[in-house]
Amino acid sequence: MSHLETRNSKPDTRIIIIGAGPGGYIAALKASQLGASVAMVEKGHLGGTCLNWGCVPSKALLSSAEVLHHAKHAAQWGVKVTGAEIDWPAVQARKDKIITTLRGGIASLLKGRKVTHLIGTAKLDGPGKVIVDDGKGGVVSHTADHVIIGTGSQPIRIPGWPTDPALVSTSDESVHWTTLPKELIIVGGGVIGCEFACIMNAVGVKVTLVELMPQILATPGLDADLGKDLAKSFVKRGITIHVGVKVQSVTAEGGVVSATLDNGTVLKADRLLVSVGRKPNTAGLNLESVGIQVTNRGFIPVDDTMATTAKGVWAIGDVNGRCLLAHAASANGVTAVENALGCGHPFTAPIPSAVYTFPEIGAVGITEADAKAQNLPYSVGRFPIGHLGKAMAAGDTEGFVKVIRHRETDVILGVHALGHNATEIIAAAGVLLHTKATVHDMAEAVFAHPTISEAVKEAAEDALGMSLHLPPRKIISA
Ligand code: FAD
Ligand code: NAD
Repeated sequence: MSHLETRNSKPDTRIIIIGAGPGGYIAALKASQLGASVAMVEKGHLGGTCLNWGCVPSKALLSSAEVLHHAKHAAQWGVKVTGAEIDWPAVQARKDKIITTLRGGIASLLKGRKVTHLIGTAKLDGPGKVIVDDGKGGVVSHTADHVIIGTGSQPIRIPGWPTDPALVSTSDESVHWTTLPKELIIVGGGVIGCEFACIMNAVGVKVTLVELMPQILATPGLDADLGKDLAKSFVKRGITIHVGVKVQSVTAEGGVVSATLDNGTVLKADRLLVSVGRKPNTAGLNLESVGIQVTNRGFIPVDDTMATTAKGVWAIGDVNGRCLLAHAASANGVTAVENALGCGHPFTAPIPSAVYTFPEIGAVGITEADAKAQNLPYSVGRFPIGHLGKAMAAGDTEGFVKVIRHRETDVILGVHALGHNATEIIAAAGVLLHTKATVHDMAEAVFAHPTISEAVKEAAEDALGMSLHLPPRKIISA
């Protein structure tokens, strides 16, 4: 069975979904499509973190930053541009318009599928019961056969650090900044830290990034080579990076923020972004009323069908802690609904990651370090994007594609790409991993020329020691 399943063995089922992020609203649409009676409760804006504080606003800002970056370097394409500069209020207005348009789109999709949209804060009240408080004195109890929790997550704030958002912010405030800082310290070189460093550097802010781990983007699922090469690119563009060091304390005085690192260095700037991870939204949900116990990090544990330990209660997206990405939340939502309606299957699909820095990152499957740790027999193919005609024509020659192959079964284990359009080219690799294709399948497929995707085919060929655009070599074995 697949998520295109249209059979619903329980047509009169009532489902309540808590949260209208990419997990919740997709679950609502799916449940309605399958014939259930659906209510969705949201205390804030439709679209959740993804649309209002996350994926969409950050990518809108990045896109403006990238235009400026290209305009400043236009001479390399033989184009004269003078006086290119950022108009930050216009950048913010553009981003706000995109958000409003997409919110309206979700509202009409929900209306079209007759999903009841309840405005308020929901909490569980024992099996099959949800109480919704509209914050204006209206408290209504609802019953349902199934409850799907998709309440998402929020940025971690460090106790004791200044809370004035004009000086110390999380991504929630930063995507909506009305003014730009002159100098910015970013605490945490994970996905948010790197995307923000890229945006701010491109618009002329002096950026210093501090990361606890020995390298930036030491994120699970991202091959170590990606962060290492991205760091080189960042440094070339003037971003200062400190790795293997912790920000111990932060103070603010007279409009200046000071960050003390655990090696004694003191950094100063007029603003600081805290991007040290996110924590789940479970407070106030009254999970005890159905006997759910959260993990030590506060997430709601689920099995591969998204079922919690309580019968008829499901948890999807960030709140279950399995993968804090929007498309994972949506896929979880579909899985929960199909299983609640009796036409489901466990969720096992590989989830691609995309990091919207420039150069971009796309990754799916396991990393080389994972292959090593699991003691798998593997070979690695690698192709530099700079060798491609399309990369030279586009003026974006940084990066590589790395393919990890199981040496005995030939199955593709992972694909990791850094470079122009890497977030787009990873989709094809994701489909191949989803179908458990082999590296031969990947290498034998015909890729259009000239494209950046050709690097995927070349890297697959290289994993077999067969690339024609690289010097002959033996396969690197585990
Ligand atoms: P959320 O989107 O957090 O939605 C949960 C919703 O539940 C919220 O609207 C909240 O108001 C509501 N809610 C909470 N409690 C209650 C309650 N008791 N009653 C009623 N409503 C409630 N992911 C990507 O895949 N790609 C990206 O490019 C990307 N960029 C990001 C950039 C930033 C800056 C950030 C912060 C995140 C980014 N993410 C990205 C992550 C992505 O936003 C999340 O993984 C995704 O939003 C999770 O979806 P969700 O439905 O689980 O929760
Ligand atoms: P993260 O977990 O990716 O990175 C946090 C980093 O902060 C870690 O590398 C950690 O070592 C470091 N850190 C923690 N404390 C520190 C300290 N005191 N000093 C220095 N470094 C410290 O978290 P994030 O960047 O906040 O992102 C949160 C979530 O949002 C991620 O799970 C990510 O999946 C999601 N997100 C995804 C995208 C995308 O898909 N493009 C974009 C943004 C956010």
